[in-house]
Amino acid sequence: MRWKTNTYSGWGRALTASGQLARPERQSQVTPTAPAIGNRRSYGDAALNSGGRAMDMTRLDRILEFDTRTGDIHVEAGCTIGDLARVLPTRGWLPRVMPGTGFATVGGCIAMDVHGKNHHHAGSFGGHVREITLLTPDGPRVIAPDDTSIWRATIGGLGQTGVIASARLSLMAVPGRTMKVHERRAENFDEHIAMLDASQATFCVGWVDAAATGASLGRGIVEEAETSGAEAKHRTKTRTIPFDAPGFALSAPMVRMFNTLYYRRVPADGQFVIRPIEDFFFPLDRVHDWNRLYGKTGFHQFQCVVPTNERYALRGMLGAIAEAGAASPLAVLKRMGPAESGHLSFAKEGFTLAVDFPNRGATPELIAHLIAQTIEANGRVYLAKDSLSTAAQARAMYTHLPEWAATVNDIDPERRLETDLTRRLALRTAI
Ligand SMILES: Cc1cc2nc3c(=O)[nH]c(=O)nc-3n(C[C@H](O)[C@H](O)[C@H](O)COP(=O)(O)OP(=O)(O)OC[C@H]3O[C@@H](n4cnc5c(N)ncnc54)[C@H](O)[C@@H]3O)c2cc1C
Repeated sequence: MRWKTNTYSGWGRALTASGQLARPERQSQVTPTAPAIGNRRSYGDAALNSGGRAMDMTRLDRILEFDTRTGDIHVEAGCTIGDLARVLPTRGWLPRVMPGTGFATVGGCIAMDVHGKNHHHAGSFGGHVREITLLTPDGPRVIAPDDTSIWRATIGGLGQTGVIASARLSLMAVPGRTMKVHERRAENFDEHIAMLDASQATFCVGWVDAAATGASLGRGIVEEAETSGAEAKHRTKTRTIPFDAPGFALSAPMVRMFNTLYYRRVPADGQFVIRPIEDFFFPLDRVHDWNRLYGKTGFHQFQCVVPTNERYALRGMLGAIAEAGAASPLAVLKRMGPAESGHLSFAKEGFTLAVDFPNRGATPELIAHLIAQTIEANGRVYLAKDSLSTAAQARAMYTHLPEWAATVNDIDPERRLETDLTRRLALRTAI
C-alpha cells in the first residue's frame, strides 16, 4: 500500500487539505493510525486531515455474507449505498436508510449516522446496524448496540473510535426496483410544513423554492413514496459536468427562473409517477461532478434541524435566504422522527432544512446568521455539511459532546484519528 501526497477536498470544495492518502485493497493493510474516509461526500472538513494521513476505504467494498431469507447482510465499510441499492432489490431487499447520494459508503453512513427520506418512520442509519467490526488503536473489536458507551460514540461518531472495517445491517423487504411517487405542490411554507406533518407515506421529502418570497415563501413540491414492483417508463441518463461553471450559472435571476419552471413541472392537482429506486433516492447522482457547477470556489450547504415546536424558525431562515438572493435550487425540507442513536447523531424530532449556497462574498455571513438562529431555536446543524460553525456553537448544539469526547479520548489517547473537523470544532477537548 502506497501513501501519496495529495490536495483534496470535501464535496463542497470550499475547504481543502494537503496530506497523504492511501487506498488499501486488503483488510490486512488497514491500521487505525490515521482516520478512515469514504467517498468524501461530506461537504466540509469531516473527511480531511491537513498535514496528516487518511485512509481511503473505498476499495474494501465486498459483500461478505447475505441471508436472502432474513435480509441480514455483512458488508465491508467501503461498500456504497448505491451499489447495495442496485444489487439488492433483485433479491427483494434494500438498505433501510439511504442518504441522498448513493456514493456514500457504509463506513461514512455509520460515522455520520445518516438519515433518509423515511427518518420519521425508520430513524437513522445506526438504528439498523447490528454489529460493527472496529479496528481500534488497541486492536480489533466486534461491537454491538449492547456495548453502549463505545457504540454511542461510534454511531455518528465521526470515525474517532477507530476504523470501521465491516458492518452487519438489517435490510427492508421490497417488492421490486421502483418507487411509486405522489408529487404535489405546496403553495407556501405553512402548507408545506402541514403536508409533511400529515404525510403517512413511508418516504416523504419536500423540495423547497428557496428563492420564493412574499405569499409564496417556502413553496415547493412534496414527494411521498412507497416501494413498488411496477415498471418505470425510463431512467434519466447520467451526465457529467466537464468543467468549473462560470459565476453567472447560479446567479439569483437564473435560480429564480429555474425554480419557477421546476415548481410548475408538477400539475396543480399533483401527479403519480413510477421511478427507478436510484432516481428517487439519489436524483443528483445522475449528474456526475455536479459540485463543479459552483465554480472553483465551491459551495457550502447549511443543514439544520429544529424541534417541532420551533418549526416556524425555518420560515424566518427561508425569509433571510430569499432576501439575500443567495440560494441555489438545491433546497430540501424534511420531517424527522424521534431517535438519537449516537452521542453526536444529528437527527432530532422536528423539521430539517438543507440549502446549498455558492461560496461567494456574503455567504459565510448569511450562514453564520442561520447557525445562530438554529441555536436560538434549540436545534443543531449537521456536521456532515458544516464548514462554518465554531467550537462554542458545537458545544451548544451537541449536548452529549462530553460523553463522546471522554470515550474517544480513552480509545485513541494519542489522537491519531483526529480530522480537520474535530480540530476546527475542538470536539475532543469538549470534556
Ligand atoms: C448529494 C448528497 C446528498 C446527501 N444527502 C444526505 C442525506 O439525505 N442524509 C444524510 O444524512 N446525509 C446526506 N449526505 C451526506 C453524506 O451522506 C454523508 O456525508 C456521508 O458520511 C458520506 O459518506 P462517505 O462515505 O463519502 O464519507 P466521508 O465523507 O468520506 O466521511 C464522513 C465521515 O465518516 C468517517 N468515515 C468514513 N469511512 C469510515 C470508516 N470506514 N471507518 C471510520 N470512519 C469512517 C470519516 O472519517 C468522516 O468523519 C449527502 C451528501 C451528498 C453529496
